[in-house]
This record gives sequence, C-alpha cells and structure tokens, in this order.
Amino acid sequence: MTSVYPHNKAKALKPGSRRPAKELCSECGLCDTYYVHYVKEACAFINQQFQELETKVHGRDRNLENPDELYFGVHQQMIAARKQEPIEGAQWTGIVSSIAIEMLNRGMVEGVVCVQNTKEDRFQPKPIIARTPEEILAAKVNKPTLSPNLSVLEEIEKSGMKRLLVIGVGCQIQALRAVEKQLGLEKLYVLGTPCVDNVTRAGLQKFLDTTSKSPDTVVYYEFMQDFRVHFKHEDGSTELVPFFGLNTKELKDVFAPSCMSCFDYVNATADLVVGYMGAPFGWQWIVVRNDTGQEMLDLVQNQIDTQPVTSQGNRKEAVQQSIPAYDKAVTLPMWAAKLMGVVIEKIGPKGLEYARFSIDSHFTRNYLYVKRNYPEKLAAHVPEFAKKIVGQYKLPE
Ligand code: FAD
Repeated sequence: MTSVYPHNKAKALKPGSRRPAKELCSECGLCDTYYVHYVKEACAFINQQFQELETKVHGRDRNLENPDELYFGVHQQMIAARKQEPIEGAQWTGIVSSIAIEMLNRGMVEGVVCVQNTKEDRFQPKPIIARTPEEILAAKVNKPTLSPNLSVLEEIEKSGMKRLLVIGVGCQIQALRAVEKQLGLEKLYVLGTPCVDNVTRAGLQKFLDTTSKSPDTVVYYEFMQDFRVHFKHEDGSTELVPFFGLNTKELKDVFAPSCMSCFDYVNATADLVVGYMGAPFGWQWIVVRNDTGQEMLDLVQNQIDTQPVTSQGNRKEAVQQSIPAYDKAVTLPMWAAKLMGVVIEKIGPKGLEYARFSIDSHFTRNYLYVKRNYPEKLAAHVPEFAKKIVGQYKLPE
C-alpha cells in the first residue's frame, strides 16, 4: 500500500540507540517506528502540550478553577465500578479487558493495541495488536515496566485497519494523540489507565528484590489505598508491605527518570480512564472524559456494579509531611511503619481524597526532581494544573 504521509520516508531508530528525549525517554515505542518523524512535537518529555491535546481531543482544556478538573482532568462523570464476575488474573476486576473484548466482538474496532508479556518473563512487555478476545485476555494484568506500546503503529497503517482501540498509559497516549491524524484511521478509541512510578525491567527487579520476601514468585502488585503494597504470589497468597516501610534510600533512583518528571498521572487525553485510586478498596475508579468514553463504558454496563465516588478525610498534612521525609530518604523501622499504616488507614484520606493524596505526593516529588535535574525545562515542562497543585505546599530547595 502506498502512503501520502511524509513519515513513510523516515526510519525507525535502531533498538538500543540513544533516543531524542535522552534519559527522559519513557520507551513509549514511537521512536521504534517511522512516526519518529514527529517525535520533537509528539514526545511528552520534549514537548509538553496538555492544553493543545486536551482541546483537540475533548473540545476544551481543563478548567483550573473547577477543583475536580484541576486534579482529574476534563471529564463528564466519575464513578466507582467493579465487574460482577471479575476476570481471574486481571489487575483489578478486568473492566479494561472486558471493554476491549466487547468492542472487538461488536465489530466496533478491527484491532486492539495492548501489551502481553514474553514467554520467558512474565514482566517483560510485548506490545501487540490483538484481533481476538483470547489475545486481549492474554494481555490482562499490569506489566509494571516501561512498555513500547506504540512500536506496533507501523503495522496498523500497513494492515489497512481503519477502526482501532488503543489501551495505554499517559506518555504513550500523549504521543499517540499527537500523531493520531497521521494514522489514516476512521475512528480511534483510547482506553487509558492512570500510571505512576514505572520502572525499567532492571529497576523492577531491584524493587522486587528490596521489597518482597519472595521476589521470584510475584505475579502482580499494586500500591493500594490502604497505604500498603500488595504483592500477589504464584500460590495465591498476598504479601503486604506498608508504604512507610519501603527502603526509600535503595529505591530512590529505581523509578525511571521519565516517571519522575511525569505529570500525566490520570491520563488526560484518553477517552475513558480506568484505575482504582479514587474508589473504595476493591472497586475500580472510572473517569469518562468525553462522549466516546461514555460509548465505551456503556458496552459493559450490564456486567458491572456501580456506585457514586465519595471523598473523605484531609490529605494536606500527610502530603506536607511526606515531602521532606521522601527527600531525606527516611525509612521507618517496620513496626513503626506498620503502626503508621494502620493509623493512617483509619483516619486518613479515602476515595477521591486518597487520589488527591497520591497526585499531590507524586507531583511535589516530580516537581522537585525536574527543578533539580532539568532546571532549564521546569517552566515549559510542568503544566499549569501541576504548578497550581504543587503551589499548595511548602517545598525544600
Ligand atoms: P486488566 O483487564 O487486567 O487489563 C490491564 C491492561 O493494561 C491490559 O489491556 C494491558 O494491555 C494494559 N497494560 C498493562 N501494562 C501496561 C503498561 N506498562 N503500559 C501500558 N499498558 C499496559 N491506577 C490507579 O488508580 N493509580 C495508580 O497509581 C496506578 N498506577 C499504575 C501503574 C502502572 C505501571 C500501570 C500499568 C497501571 C496503573 N494503574 C493505576 C492502573 C491500574 O493498576 C489497572 O491497570 C487498571 O485499574 C485496570 O485494571 P483492570 O483489571 O481493568 O485491567
């Protein structure tokens, strides 16, 4: 098939070669394709452009005077939901996989960009274009590593596909939105998840080795609303490690530099976002950003229970205290960490307030990281909404 697009003359960068974003590269996969042609404009770490992309996708950018939009981005509604019959082995209850399967089964899309793992390594990402429900199911559960989901973009144009669903995290979706018009699609659906603190495969190993008692048997993990990391092991057992007991000194540089400079925690340019952190424990948190997102959620209405989102507690003091503690890499003894976890779970922020707690903690940390490591990027790279959020706190120099 011939193409009218200039990018077809470009060449993907060689695997392992230095990327245009240098150490800030999040390995989203764009540069593994001829769409590298657009990288200077499209890369979330070279050209921060939330306002432009939100306006392009949702018809307007977020209203910074609306407290919910300031935090969670442009949206029509937020709800808590869970599948009546959860998908076994999914990260939460499998709402993401279920929506993707419905879209394929109903012929709304011809393919779904998602990420499976390699045969040899359950955490090594293997992006694919799924064309069957089985292939979507094989991509369930988080690969908690940087994943080059967009590396399959060339295949899409070559295949002649016109209707596509892409599942992905913020940095991947920002780059995707920037090149959306060049893909030659009739309709693109974007199902996003929130994302934070991602790591390279080597970084993941360090995290597992320093934090879990049995790193080799971890099947998945999540930083939960009860202020503990929940590791699920192969034998079905769950290991709980309080956030406050993490070996901060060892882990300080484990997160990828891209994630330490990211302000797209809530995936601002997806049509629909499915996470957990704004919902009660055990439920998923759904943010419908536009009509396309509502259309996608409607497909699974008969498979899910829902309830309104709620908010409880006050995060501000906990966030303010966590800033210097993280900065100085304070690690509490395990008994104190456990105690603190129990207390904070009883009286601490819940629902949307927990989500704000997590956003505030990460944005303040990331703001300091950019300020110290990339001072020349600070003004342009940090979006207005993040500056406003960070401005609520007193930061160390
Ligand atoms: P499933 O049905 O299990 O499907 C998971 C989907 O995620 C699959 O389709 C797969 O293709 C895709 N996927 C897996 N790994 C990646 C990856 N590395 N990059 C892109 N796509 C991937 N939610 C929060 O509310 N707060 C958080 O702090 C948070 N952090 C996250 C960090 C990471 C690295 C990831 C990948 C997700 C995070 N999420 C977070 C989202 C949350 O963990 C669940 O993924 C989401 O709620 C969907 O659950 P599910 O059971 O519906 O997904």
